[in-house]
Amino acid sequence: MRITQKQESTSRVYILNVYDLHTHSHCSDGSLSPTELVMLAKTSGVNVLALTDHDTTKGISEARQAAGDDLTIIAGIEFSAQWRNRGVHIVGLNVDTESAILHSAIEHQSATRIERAYTIAERLEKVGIVGALEGAKHYANGAVIGRPHFAQYLVDQDYVSSHAQAFKKYLGAGKAGDVKQGWPDIEQVVQWIHQSGGIAVLAHPDKYDLTRTKLYELIADFVEVGGRGLEVVSGQQATNVTDKLVRAANDFDLLASCGSDFHAPGQAWQALGKTYVPDTCRPIWKAF
Ligand code: AMP
Ligand code: MN
Ligand code: MN
Ligand code: MN
Repeated sequence: MRITQKQESTSRVYILNVYDLHTHSHCSDGSLSPTELVMLAKTSGVNVLALTDHDTTKGISEARQAAGDDLTIIAGIEFSAQWRNRGVHIVGLNVDTESAILHSAIEHQSATRIERAYTIAERLEKVGIVGALEGAKHYANGAVIGRPHFAQYLVDQDYVSSHAQAFKKYLGAGKAGDVKQGWPDIEQVVQWIHQSGGIAVLAHPDKYDLTRTKLYELIADFVEVGGRGLEVVSGQQATNVTDKLVRAANDFDLLASCGSDFHAPGQAWQALGKTYVPDTCRPIWKAF
């Protein structure tokens, strides 16, 4: 918990909530169960935690149970989408997990992911990698299947030495296993989120490798279709990046969100609860 002590005559003590609004569990490509994630969030000083697994809300009820009264869980989801032939991610915060529209959206994404896994495996086979589909399925172990599960297979079969190498050589942008065909456009995803009662947030805008002009075009399109939030802080990012994103949020009158994008313990750049929204922009939780 972050405590700011004001050393003035009144000696008032402000207790600020620590928000982490972008995290993963083993229901998608994270390593912890929702319960383990919540336990770690508690000991990391997080007061408000959004579980935002890729294209699923499967872990929310378990997270809520584990949280009890100690910590607030925000029901979230990180949707995969497509913008101008690039993969982009849109986080839905505070969605109604009972929403029929959300359920059918998740079903749609699940079918797309399964089909996509076949395509990824076919493409990998063409560059000499055998058995990738079965391998990835094995590591997914019933969770939402994604490229990290393929990466695990590539590492364990000694095709590459690390996850990073797997993405660099085979799975990252422009490589054989980078399949974004089939993902819905950003308008569809924003509609799904809003129709299920949530707030749509453009996730980790600095990770798309866009020039400032292109980034502003993406944000403009996102706003045009009804998007309301921008992740101004994603994990441990450089101050100049935060400054740039705060400016963008304010230029487009967007609410500011923050999240670690936690996937596994031991990855310092995605540590739980180290995120914040600068006081120069409007925090998204005002809209919860
Ligand atoms: P997918 O959901 O199948 O599109 O896979 C995307 C996920 O892969 C992201 O959410 C990250 O967890 C992971 N990822 C993406 N790029 C990299 C990278 N360069 N190195 C390691 N993991 C990555
Ligand atoms: Mn991920
Ligand atoms: Mn993402
Ligand atoms: Mn994420």
